[in-house]
Amino acid sequence: MSQAGGVVLVTGGSRGIGAAVVRQLAAQGTAVLFSYRREVAAAQALVAEVQAAGGLARAVPADVADEAQVLAMFATLDAWCAELGRPFIGLVNNAGVLETQRKLVDMDVGRWERVLRTNVIGSFLCAREAVRRMARSAGGAGGSIVNLSSRAARLGAAFEYVDYAASKAAVDAMTLGLSREVAAEGIRVNAVAPGLIRTDIHASGGEPGRVDRLSAAVPLGRGGEPEEVAQAVLWLLSEASSYTTGTVLEVSGGR
Ligand code: NAP
Repeated sequence: MSQAGGVVLVTGGSRGIGAAVVRQLAAQGTAVLFSYRREVAAAQALVAEVQAAGGLARAVPADVADEAQVLAMFATLDAWCAELGRPFIGLVNNAGVLETQRKLVDMDVGRWERVLRTNVIGSFLCAREAVRRMARSAGGAGGSIVNLSSRAARLGAAFEYVDYAASKAAVDAMTLGLSREVAAEGIRVNAVAPGLIRTDIHASGGEPGRVDRLSAAVPLGRGGEPEEVAQAVLWLLSEASSYTTGTVLEVSGGR
């Protein structure tokens, strides 16, 4: 199945890495449904941009941390696939959050629950719904799932966000385990672990200039751009990576 002939779902596609993935997929002819949580204007602007370039994109508001909203998002996906006459062939579990930098000793339970709810439970819910549709035994076309992990999963994010690092380590474990469960169904499952990428996520941690502060320590000597991460995601979605599953691909400039 050619990727260009199918439909791919990208969670958290309104900005940052997700938006770069949406743009690159649409540019190669893939129909892209993407979700967002709050930034309606950014989502609408991206849909308009893709359509102006002759691509196919739709945005749907859906908080991946909420099961009912995830189910509604997949119902929208099903309807769009039927309307286009194209199969659902790819999921990018990109939606992710972190909170203000602080030591673990100063964190409360609510914060851990919020971060795990979006980064881990949200990725699980979307992966489950994707497998139910892609599995050959369920009449699906097979497909590729790409989870957004982080270098933090192995570095630990001490003094910043150990909760976030732990959530991404859980994503890595889910990537490996699920890949083995669904390989015979024609579904590959991989993760991309970005390093320091220039997006708004660092402002969420309270330090918009974090990439500049740390980039001198990156072997390639700079922070990364969302488009550079998107290239890795597109490769893992595509048939070019047909023999790759259960892996975590680091896109971190050597960090
Ligand atoms: P970002 O600029 O903060 O964008 C996050 C996106 O996720 C937005 O579209 C946001 O929607 C959406 N989102 C957040 N929580 C959501 C939820 N509960 N339900 C649905 N959508 C939600 O982040 P980014 O830097 O592009 O990060 C994308 C992914 O890469 C994340 O998983 C992140 O952990 C990972 N990552 C990033 C870096 C980096 O340096 N940037 C490094 C390693 C890993 P709204 O716009 O509506 O809020």
